[in-house]
Amino acid sequence: MDVVVSACLLGEACRYDGGSKPNEAVRQLASRVRVHPVCPETAGGLPVPRPPAEQVGDRVQLRDGTDVTAAFARGAQACALAARNCGASLAVLKARSPSCGVGFVYDGTYSGKLTRGNGVYAQLLEGEGICMVTEEVVESCKPSVEHPVAIVLGTGLGHLSSLVHPVRRIDYHDIDGFPADARPISGHRFEATVGTVDDVPVVVYPGRIHLYQGYSAAEVTALVRHAHRLGCRDIVFACATGAIPGNAHTGLGILTDHLNLTGVNPLVGDASQRGLETPFVDMCDAYSPYLRTIARGVADDLGIAVEEGVYAGVVGPSFETPAEVRMLASLGVSYVGMSTVLEVIAAKALGMNVLGLTLAANYSGDGSVTHQSVLEEAQRNADSFERLVRGILHLL
Ligand code: SF4
Repeated sequence: MDVVVSACLLGEACRYDGGSKPNEAVRQLASRVRVHPVCPETAGGLPVPRPPAEQVGDRVQLRDGTDVTAAFARGAQACALAARNCGASLAVLKARSPSCGVGFVYDGTYSGKLTRGNGVYAQLLEGEGICMVTEEVVESCKPSVEHPVAIVLGTGLGHLSSLVHPVRRIDYHDIDGFPADARPISGHRFEATVGTVDDVPVVVYPGRIHLYQGYSAAEVTALVRHAHRLGCRDIVFACATGAIPGNAHTGLGILTDHLNLTGVNPLVGDASQRGLETPFVDMCDAYSPYLRTIARGVADDLGIAVEEGVYAGVVGPSFETPAEVRMLASLGVSYVGMSTVLEVIAAKALGMNVLGLTLAANYSGDGSVTHQSVLEEAQRNADSFERLVRGILHLL
């Protein structure tokens, strides 16, 4: 996986004041990918040290009033070309910088105030299809003992829990909000394992309950709130789905977005009871672009075939009619299943970083799917799924 990184985050003394901003999480990521350090400002010929620069309208000026717009543009173009040439899919850029900033930059008053927008380099990268994140995103996704990665496994995928070096086990029935009468169906076990996979702290939930079993939206999202209480910031949802013909193939997939067609929402009701300040949750980028890019990069490096697409969550338990399959296809859906969407809404509301992985075990509407055939397809893909998840954990 090729990753462009702001050189100052790697410890290069290229900042305006002659210093650097080394970041341990970024350095660790850089040590595990093909890293391409860039510094657009020095590439543009600006001296170090110099006064700080900020964007002022459509110009860039040093604090002493010198106009450096041309130098910023020159450096940005050189570094954008470098990113294009190396085929980078991810750029980790220094937050708030007038060149590298993503999402927010200083507002041109040299007062420390921020305004929405990208730095000059990030503006150029925007059209290149490269996922851009700041060092703060890499840090927030970095697992630790205090912040293990939660992994919720769907039908037939529960074997991954056997990889965990366990520290302790938690019976689902001891989890607040999980229904006392819930019993696992075939392919699920109801015991979470806290421990490590390849030294990465994790909490693995090897099964879930569903709306189609008669449980409420609050009950099916109890595991998410439990993971959040345990300190998890990253949460991986793995689910079995049907592929929508024409939009996706069977096999492994990365979820990019979803349609909640269940008719319910876990945020309905008293938000404070769910530990939320507000139920009005922004669902843009609910599936973390950073985690999706990491997953795609790992899959490509390991030669694991994955596709990407939108997931439609339905109640079930009946499978889709041909008319429903045609409707989903016309809506741009790649995968359809009976879980995940409510959990993703709950996780996003709690500020968690979500990765959605799916195993499309059959083509939706092909008339041949059974619970047993889903288990068999999961078994066939078990090795690829395991290597993918381990590869992702290694990069976080
Ligand atoms: Fe760091 Fe980017 Fe500024 Fe260079 S241009 S010092 S890489 S933030």
